[in-house]
Amino acid sequence: MKLDRLLVVDVEATCWEGDPPPGEASEIIEIGVCELDVATGERLGKHSVLVRPERSSVSAFCTSLTTLTAEQVSGGVTYVEACALLRKEFRSRDRVWASYGDYDRKQFERQGHYPFGPRHVNVKTLFALSRALPREVGLAEALALAGLPLEGTHHRGDDDAWNIAALFGGILRSTRE
Ligand code: AMP
Ligand code: MG
Repeated sequence: MKLDRLLVVDVEATCWEGDPPPGEASEIIEIGVCELDVATGERLGKHSVLVRPERSSVSAFCTSLTTLTAEQVSGGVTYVEACALLRKEFRSRDRVWASYGDYDRKQFERQGHYPFGPRHVNVKTLFALSRALPREVGLAEALALAGLPLEGTHHRGDDDAWNIAALFGGILRSTRE
């Protein structure tokens, strides 16, 4: 395990207002990654990997939530290719990875291929614990409590990862003051 940087990851997936249509299930359509320098708590840059769904389609509801269109993600890589890219470009198996809540980790597990190593940090839980909140809060509320701006477009993977990384970086720095 390399501890110099960690990977903050946020996925977007096909979704519907209620249950998926018959024969479809939610699949990842975007993997947002923000690398965080552990020593400084600084963000090193954000990336968006678009993923083409294979057994589901992007609904109008999904586009209104994420801004991602069927056309945009049809130009993406397959999920298996995206996992290979994470391993190669981001050394995802060798680094701690983090996400806001457990949804992202579970979605990777549901899709069969799991591109990460054994170390996952749930920033939603960590944030609530670090501030002794009575309950876990959503990302927008956490940013407001931390006095951080919600940068970019909420519910886009790269922007969500960027904002989650700001929260995580703040927690790391606060333990060293
Ligand atoms: P988020 O990281 O909050 O943008 O959410 C990740 C994914 O969860 C989205 O791409 C959707 O697949 C699903 N999701 C989030 N919010 C909703 C919602 N209100 N209704 C249905 N699915 C949602
Ligand atoms: Mg998101």
